Amino acid sequence: MVNDYHRDIVKKELSFRCPDCHMVIVPPFDSMTVRAYLNGMCTQEQAIETLRRNHERHVHTEYDEQRRRLYVRMRHEGIHPDDARSRAKNVARQKLEEKT
Ligand SMILES: [Zn+2]
Repeated sequence: MVNDYHRDIVKKELSFRCPDCHMVIVPPFDSMTVRAYLNGMCTQEQAIETLRRNHERHVHTEYDEQRRRLYVRMRHEGIHPDDARSRAKNVARQKLEEKT
């Protein structure tokens, strides 16, 4: 459960400024990384590094759009929604890694 105390911690300790868009990013409270940090499973530096990479991928690359296109194509091919979702995610990530 995320409470106000946790929200304060997240805002104070896991917010960061993106070097690309200069926005102050407050991570979503339900993200796996935030939960890992709140549970003491990673350090503040590790959490921020992961959150920074996630923001970069979702906002500053074509990852989300590519994932959406792949999902739609797989659904047209008759692939089950759950399978299409995870396969589209894997393929989009692979393509992103090939570029960087
Ligand atoms: Zn940014």
